[in-house]
Amino acid sequence: MLDITALADLLSQPKKIVITTHHKPDGDALGSSLGLYNYLIQRGHHARVITPTDYPQYFEWMPGNEDVIIYTDHVEQSNELVAAADIIFCLDFNTLSRINELGEEVGKSDAYKIMIDHHLEPQDFDDYRYWNINACATAQLVYDFIAIELNDKALVNKDVATCLYTGIMTDSGSFRLPNTTSAVHRTVADLIDAGAVNWRIHELVYNSATENRLRFLGHCLANKLEVLQEFNTAIITVTSEELKQYDINTGDTEGIVNYALSISGIRLAAFIVQRKDKVKLSLRSKGEFPANEICKKYFNGGGHRNAAGGASDDSLENVIAQFKSILPNYKTLLIQ
Ligand code: 5GP
Ligand code: MN
Repeated sequence: MLDITALADLLSQPKKIVITTHHKPDGDALGSSLGLYNYLIQRGHHARVITPTDYPQYFEWMPGNEDVIIYTDHVEQSNELVAAADIIFCLDFNTLSRINELGEEVGKSDAYKIMIDHHLEPQDFDDYRYWNINACATAQLVYDFIAIELNDKALVNKDVATCLYTGIMTDSGSFRLPNTTSAVHRTVADLIDAGAVNWRIHELVYNSATENRLRFLGHCLANKLEVLQEFNTAIITVTSEELKQYDINTGDTEGIVNYALSISGIRLAAFIVQRKDKVKLSLRSKGEFPANEICKKYFNGGGHRNAAGGASDDSLENVIAQFKSILPNYKTLLIQ
C-alpha cells in the first residue's frame, strides 16, 4: 500500500500513466478520467485515458477526448500502454470485472494502481485508495485529490474544471440527487471560477439529442411503460428490434428510466433492454430502497442504492418475468 506522501513523491517526476474507467463510460467516468488527464499532462506526465468500450457521442466535445483510446478498437496498443505503465488510475469503478478484458491486463501489470471511486464493496487490487461512497461523483473525489491531497488547486485550469464539472453534473442528476451537499455546490463554484462554463456544459450534454432519440423516448413512454401500482414500481422494456428501428446508439437510452421514476408515488423504476448479447437492466429507486441489492442478488450487477445496473443472459421475456417475481419480496419496502 502507498500513502499519500509516497504517491505525491511518485508523481513529482514524469511517469507513464494510464487512466481507465468502467464499461460504457458515463459522464462521471469520462469527466473524472479526462479531468485527471488534463491535470497530469500539465505536470509533464505521459498520460493516456483508455476506456474499455465506446461512450456516448454527446461526451466527445470534452477536452482531451481526442487522446482517449477505446480498448476494443486498439487492443494491442492499449495492452502495451498498460504493460509499460508506472501508474494506473482506476476511476469510477472498483472491481476489475467492470473494465472487461482490460481488467486482466490491469490485474497482471506491475504498475501502482490508484483507485478513486464512490461505489460500494471495492475489490482488493489497488495500492492506494481514495474512496468515499458518500461522494456524489468520482469527479468530486478527483477534485479533492488534486486540490486537497496534492495541494494543486492552481492546476485546476479550464480543461480540468470543465471535465470535472461534467462528472459532478451528470452523477448528481444535475444537482438534484440527495448526495448534492453544500460542499458539492462549493466545489462546483470553484470549478466555474476556474473556467467551467456551466450553462454551456448542460447544453452540450443534455440538449444534444437526435430526432430519433426523442421519437424513441416518445415510443417508450407511450407504448412500453408498465406501471405496477401494487408495488409502486414502473418498468420500461425494449427489444433489440426497437433499438434497431429507432437507430439507437450508445448513450441514447441514458436517463429514460428516470421518466418512469418521475411518476408520483413510484419508488422503483426499471429500464430493461435487449442488447446484442444480453439483457441489460437499469434500476433507479427513491429513498431507502436498495436497487443495488436487486442487481447484485439477481442480475450479476451492482451500483448505488438509488441507481444500479445488472445484466442477464436469459431472454427479455424471462428477465421481465424474473424482475416482476422479485417484487413481492420487497413489498413492504416498496409500499411503505
Ligand atoms: P446505469 O443504470 O446507468 O447503467 O448504471 C447505474 C449505476 O449502476 C452506475 O453507478 C453503475 O456503476 C452501476 N452499474 C450498472 N451496471 C452495472 C453492472 O453490470 N455491474 C455493476 N457492478 N454495477 C453496475
Ligand atoms: Mn460515478
